[in-house]
Amino acid sequence: MMLGRMIRRLWTEKLGLTELTSKEIGIRLSKKFPQMVQEHTYYERQDRCGKWVLINGPIYGDVRFVGTVIVESKKLADWAKEHAKAVFSSDTAEQKARETLPSWLECADETCEVVTLLDLKQREVLQGDCLRFLWSSWANVWCPECGQWHSQIKEHDADWIVTGKISLRVDDWHCPQGHLIYRYSPQNLRLIYR
Ligand SMILES: [Zn+2]
Repeated sequence: MMLGRMIRRLWTEKLGLTELTSKEIGIRLSKKFPQMVQEHTYYERQDRCGKWVLINGPIYGDVRFVGTVIVESKKLADWAKEHAKAVFSSDTAEQKARETLPSWLECADETCEVVTLLDLKQREVLQGDCLRFLWSSWANVWCPECGQWHSQIKEHDADWIVTGKISLRVDDWHCPQGHLIYRYSPQNLRLIYR
């Protein structure tokens, strides 16, 4: 269960708690509503990641992805740091993965070109942000049809929904040659107010 910025806004505006971080608010909420807390163990990664981590792809058994998306570890580290400040999860394992992800990425061995796989909880932390990374030019996407990496997907601006601060892409993604990379499925949506 995500305890995002909407809750933070609620607490800061209604209760005047202006100086609390998302984590502090999350901890207070967890104490107040212990039934929300899902206690799971997370074993922090002891290995070093390589230059690239694999964000989404069929290797994780995700049938939506035909192509594979990898992101440069060190570039993702700064994003992960900000994400960890803004988002809190009542799943204790996911939260631990969120908090340890930035330092794990920062320690990447950039001489290692072998793509590193994420564990389940790290994938949950990054769930839904794949497209953001593709926009940010930190990612490469492998198209099995082309048999090569691309630095971006094909743009289909007509299929964007933009509502205030929220942008959604509600169609399939394709490589620049038009091959299917990602199959849109309506249950994928996760909205976070930023
Ligand atoms: Zn292709």
